[in-house]
Amino acid sequence: MSEQIIHKDPATGLPVGTVAAFLNLSAAMVALYADGTDQYGAPKASWFCLGCGRHSHIAQQLGTSRGEANAHAAECRAIPWPQAVLV
Ligand SMILES: [Zn+2]
Repeated sequence: MSEQIIHKDPATGLPVGTVAAFLNLSAAMVALYADGTDQYGAPKASWFCLGCGRHSHIAQQLGTSRGEANAHAAECRAIPWPQAVLV
């Protein structure tokens, strides 16, 4: 079983290429990010929940991934995970 690698922007903690973010019921973000193109050149996207860590398994059409990210945000109750603060 392979682990999906999600590159994050160190300044924001969001996946690189994030195009939208949805808030779940406990204010954790579900990030929708650009993830390549299909065979016709149309943009594909994936999503990642910064609360529970759940993510899409494959990149899909932007509208499909957007719907899944929004649906996950509507049902997820994970709280935002504390981040280390660099002083
Ligand atoms: Zn979640």
